[in-house]
Amino acid sequence: MAGTGGRTGEPEATGVEAASAPERSESSRCMPFEDCVAGIKSSLKNPTVRFLMERMDKAGCPMPPGMITARNCGTADKNGSYGSRIGITVCCEEIRYKDEITQLLIHELIHAYDDCVVKDMDWKNCAHHACSEIRANHLSGDCHYKRELLRGFMKMRGHEQECVKRRALMSLRNNPHCSGTAAKDAVEAVWSICYNDTRPFDRAP
Ligand SMILES: [Zn+2]
Repeated sequence: MAGTGGRTGEPEATGVEAASAPERSESSRCMPFEDCVAGIKSSLKNPTVRFLMERMDKAGCPMPPGMITARNCGTADKNGSYGSRIGITVCCEEIRYKDEITQLLIHELIHAYDDCVVKDMDWKNCAHHACSEIRANHLSGDCHYKRELLRGFMKMRGHEQECVKRRALMSLRNNPHCSGTAAKDAVEAVWSICYNDTRPFDRAP
């Protein structure tokens, strides 16, 4: 859900954001829509997803299941998104495996959590968005070793941090407020603070 540029001065309703799908090296087909819907339902039982939903409740931003929508998004550049007041969208045509849905929900719930607890969260501010992407990619396990192997990225040492950076940059590219070198500069500027900020977890799960 990239905002359209904020020309009109309307309140910003979108959280920009993408969980960036097209990094896969495998070519298996996406799952049928109804399997995707069922997958969302079962992902809601995942302990990490439940923990994050609970934390959202406690922080005063409940995320009822109705705020998680299955859709055919019609874009190939993301598998899901989060928007303020919109909630989480799962782009079913980009989903191939059930566990991708769980991972996606965790990723987007981190954005939702940031949107809730960060004071004056501004998705148009490239540094704010960069911080949330670093956290979402780190804490969702998007960069766990096995997943990276599936994508065909084999380099071992430091791969996790490299992966978080790479994926954060990819998502920032969809933000019209982070063009040129702004995305990379923002990621570097906030990196250590945001990578080490594992809230609401005690440590990266
Ligand atoms: Zn993201």
